Amino acid sequence: NNTVTIVGAGLAGSEAALDLAARGIAVRLIEMRPDHPTAVHHTGDAAELVCSNSLKSTKPDSAAGLLKEELSVLGSPLIEAAKRHSVAAGGALAVDRVRFARDVTAQIQAHPLIALERREATDVASLADGSDAIVLASGPLTSDALSSSLMALTGRDALAFYDAAAPVVMADSIDYEKVFRQSRYEDAAFGGDYLNAPFAKEEYEAFIEALLGAERVIAKDFETRELFQACQPIEEIARAGRDAPRFGTLKPVGLTDPRTGRRPWAALQLRAEDAHGASYNLVGFQTNLTFPEQRRVFRMIPGLEEAEFARYGVMHRNTFIDAPQLLDAGNRLATPQAEEVGVPVYVVGQLAGTEGYCEAIRSGLHGALAVAADLKGIALPPLPTETVYGALLAYATDPATEDYQPMHVNFGLMAPLDPPVRNKRARYQAYADRANAALAEYRAALAEAGLLP
Ligand code: FAD
Repeated sequence: NNTVTIVGAGLAGSEAALDLAARGIAVRLIEMRPDHPTAVHHTGDAAELVCSNSLKSTKPDSAAGLLKEELSVLGSPLIEAAKRHSVAAGGALAVDRVRFARDVTAQIQAHPLIALERREATDVASLADGSDAIVLASGPLTSDALSSSLMALTGRDALAFYDAAAPVVMADSIDYEKVFRQSRYEDAAFGGDYLNAPFAKEEYEAFIEALLGAERVIAKDFETRELFQACQPIEEIARAGRDAPRFGTLKPVGLTDPRTGRRPWAALQLRAEDAHGASYNLVGFQTNLTFPEQRRVFRMIPGLEEAEFARYGVMHRNTFIDAPQLLDAGNRLATPQAEEVGVPVYVVGQLAGTEGYCEAIRSGLHGALAVAADLKGIALPPLPTETVYGALLAYATDPATEDYQPMHVNFGLMAPLDPPVRNKRARYQAYADRANAALAEYRAALAEAGLLP
């Protein structure tokens, strides 16, 4: 009989443990809480939600809704528990976090194939003893000792300790009457890799005023120092001097606004975030503003008045690996050092660079399927990129993805529709229909491979 060692009974690890056990595979689940708490967890329960109690939208034509559908169709025990303990939240799935976590903990403790060990795992290689595979699901607050051990398997530069991501907006929500395409110092006639949102002087001043007055996320003690030294948020740069952004992130040099024929007072550059150009990153706009304030203030940027955010900017402690360079499509760590551990090492959840509760759960499920397939000696059926998680996984494991920052599912990562659909509602519905059809095929392929519990 096979035994899999999982580190971390958070969202991804609990899901993976219950999934593997449901397939008849024995699991050793190592969780360091409550004796070794993290800076954000409060209990010793498995699957504790550290912040909001919302698992986001259930709308069937939204990326978050489709992700829940994937979890349901693939039989995720955590999404079932979430539904059992849901609380009224309009079009979203919000849960009673205490009951949800206790339910998952009880399932883990009651399962005859799961042995829960309460201790800190410190050395990856030592976990190989008595295991056929190792799954690291230790999350954004992976303990220091385990981080060091992981670094030995990935290389120092492949492990990040904070997340300073700029917001990403959907390409089709940008006003192309206002923004123009041009790379700095190049003739606009040649196009260029960047979209530029030009500010007039008054627009710039109003924007900076709003930026300085906007509500920020109160940084927890553990988050502040290393973060701000490494990567200044745009509102901090503005705090240093109202013109400071105009000489840095928002500098207009080398740009000519075709509407005026002149250099703008300031300009924000936007760079394609995905290979299809469906979403754009606000270059240099790392921020600590709350999400509603990002929506309010960044919509003051000329051309972004109607912007839809595929991802908001975040700055918080977040341990994650450079997944595109390190993981295969089954979340297995593919480095020579990892090979030396003697058993395959998988990385799932936020440590593998997903962002969001449901994404972590889905990643745990995907990792469990990959482990189960490997233990059976069969190939894991490929997850279609038309599914929302398939699109995220393709992005997160594509070696061409540069400067990787954790991502949640969004339509900006999906392959464009062919033929394109202009109307937004119709387009979202078309993405959903295509995703659901691909999901049905994937489920059938898993069943055929004997990979459904
Ligand atoms: P976790 O759920 O954190 O699980 C990891 C587990 O591993 C923990 O139980 C930890 O104790 C354990 N562990 C760590 N090191 C060791 C070790 N060495 N040995 C044994 N056990 C160990 N997402 C949202 O969708 N909504 C939000 O509101 C939200 N808020 C967030 C707020 C903060 C401050 C952070 C950091 C993240 C937030 N996220 C949010 C992002 C993310 O969805 C969650 O962090 C999610 O819990 C990640 O799931 P996970 O399973 O990867 O990690």
